Amino acid sequence: MHLLSRCVSRASTPIKRLSWLAVPVIAFGGLVYPWLGLGVLVIMAALVISALFRGKAWCGQVCPHGSLFDLLLVRFSANRNIPRFLSSPAFRWGFFAWFMAMLGWRLYGVFRPGLDWGLWERLGRAFVFQYLVFPTAVGTLLALTLNPRAWCAFCPMGTIQEVLYRLGLRLGLTRRTDRRLSWRAGGACSRCGLCGRVCPIGLQPYRGLNTGEGTLHEQCLRCWTCVRSCPSQALEANFDFEPVSEATNARKGRPPVLDSGGIGRDP
Ligand code: SF4
Ligand code: SF4
Repeated sequence: MHLLSRCVSRASTPIKRLSWLAVPVIAFGGLVYPWLGLGVLVIMAALVISALFRGKAWCGQVCPHGSLFDLLLVRFSANRNIPRFLSSPAFRWGFFAWFMAMLGWRLYGVFRPGLDWGLWERLGRAFVFQYLVFPTAVGTLLALTLNPRAWCAFCPMGTIQEVLYRLGLRLGLTRRTDRRLSWRAGGACSRCGLCGRVCPIGLQPYRGLNTGEGTLHEQCLRCWTCVRSCPSQALEANFDFEPVSEATNARKGRPPVLDSGGIGRDP
């Protein structure tokens, strides 16, 4: 289904159009100037804060690797479906544990007494290695051979963001900041499925969206490619979520509720 994404360009933002530049600067420039690796700490801090208020909007609108995958590598990708197991909780949390163990081991080496390099340089070098090997090398390999966003299915930073988003929802932090996908004119939807075929991570926006809640799918990147691609202009991104109600759906001309739990993947 993702063959279509070769001809449907992905939605972008001014930041996203340029943020991919951070990848070569940090991953390759960091080999010469290790302190550039400290930029990874800035990125991690920004995505953690962003997740509390806006879910995975960072991944869809700002992330340097997301930008690299969506705007550059998509042209050369095999554009196959992302295998379901990559986004399964078992795989994602298993990879998360392994990734964090590796990072912890590297940081242990940084803070070990008796080394004569500067602390910041050692710290930067540890992050450069992690950044170069995983999202850059593994992510690029997966993008070319599988799907541009295959790495994102199990990216440890994405996994952290989903947990923090749930926390933000519980604390009410998302109320004024979280734009979600919802119907602009649900009655206009022809069920053509195009929104699902262009979604970078294989979600099916039109399934279950007719609850009127806006999507609560934690993995939605808020990239709005589906909104821009819908031929019926049936979708929009907004802050206005109404409680699930058949009466509201009928009043707003939305189709009746088919699924619960927000947008889904292919059955
Ligand atoms: S692309 Fe638009 S019309 Fe087609 S299924 Fe999605 S929401 Fe409905
Ligand atoms: S559902 Fe729409 S906004 Fe969410 S990731 Fe897919 S294309 Fe982007």
